[in-house]
Amino acid sequence: HFDAVPLAPPDVIFHLTASYKADTHAQKVNVGVGAYRDDNGHPWVLPVVRKAEQLIVNNHALDHEYLPIEGLASFTSAASRLILGKDSPALNENRAIAVQTISGTGAVRLGADFLARFRGTQTKVLLSNPTWANHKAIFNDAGFKDVADYAYYHPATRGLDLEGMLRDLRAAPEGSIVVLHACAHNPTGVDPTPAQWNTIADVMIAKKHFAFFDCAYQGFASGDLDRDATAVRYFATRTELFVAQSFAKNFGLYNERTGALTVVTKSPETAQAVKSQLAKLSRAAISNPPAFGARIVSTVLNDAALYAEWVENLKTMSGRIQLMRTKLFDALQKLGTPGSWQHILDQIGMFTFTGLNAAQSQAMGTKFHIYMTNNGRISMAGLTSSNVEYFAKSLDWIVRN
Ligand code: PMP
Repeated sequence: HFDAVPLAPPDVIFHLTASYKADTHAQKVNVGVGAYRDDNGHPWVLPVVRKAEQLIVNNHALDHEYLPIEGLASFTSAASRLILGKDSPALNENRAIAVQTISGTGAVRLGADFLARFRGTQTKVLLSNPTWANHKAIFNDAGFKDVADYAYYHPATRGLDLEGMLRDLRAAPEGSIVVLHACAHNPTGVDPTPAQWNTIADVMIAKKHFAFFDCAYQGFASGDLDRDATAVRYFATRTELFVAQSFAKNFGLYNERTGALTVVTKSPETAQAVKSQLAKLSRAAISNPPAFGARIVSTVLNDAALYAEWVENLKTMSGRIQLMRTKLFDALQKLGTPGSWQHILDQIGMFTFTGLNAAQSQAMGTKFHIYMTNNGRISMAGLTSSNVEYFAKSLDWIVRN
């Protein structure tokens, strides 16, 4: 039956991590995967997550029964509040709903499956150029026939190509689906300013495009949960939208697969209809979602003291990343590395889009045992006080040779 099945290529990111693990070089560095590391280069379980885990383990009223198809209600309602805000008109008017998903990936996929069914797979889907590689795979696999790019990153300025973006949004057929990164754009670290978001919303609404936000880094971009939700909240005052939420990064719950798809509609009736259809799709895909991560997030978000502690934990992570930006920038200044490196300080969130080309990015691996993707992206969380100098010297050599 399977003789004709060709071998699929390995996933780039997971392959990089495997190569890194297999490497025995003492100074090896993994700046490929977007996962937080502490200053010793180790994964970090947030102290507030440890606390919530203990509360859950010791709560003998909890059992391992199935969750409802749409997930743990105390989690999904808190997730929606977190992204839409405590005074959200859509939530207060019962026009917004959420369904629990298999982390952010599952939320994007569930939203894509819904749109494929109710908007049709002929609808054009626009992704930022560049974007998280899985976006294209998800929309293709959901059946969309026309998955294209909109201009986003301007290599010369290492900033946003707003003109190009607006041009592409205007040129797309009315009612296209546009995937937007809510904050901390992956891979570029370049976000629109609030004023630019307003202009983007103007064009999107004039063209009746559908805003599908992907929010994998709330609290991780600025360290301020509300500030990181600015774009989503602004759009929600003007239009219907989807927002795929991941708790992998901001709670460090990577393998617990904790996420939600929050939907803002125009009426409570529409919200309930959409929710019922999302549940129907979810039933056929996963039946019902896993509980542990959702219980952790719910425990923290629904308790004022734990919430405050989580905010501090977030600041620890975003603060260390910010410190690594400064250290890397300073080290390159000291070395006199050719070129401007200001973008290391300016870019937002977990990643820096260094500007290295594919050959240079690869040479970082072969020559210096530094593992990064070919697009020149590095995860700042992979840098530590003890490897940042080595990283800077390696980068310096690559740029000069
Ligand atoms: N979207 C973007 C842009 C991401 O960077 C990520 C994480 N790499 C995700 C979604 C989803 O991650 P997860 O499924 O682990 O929540």
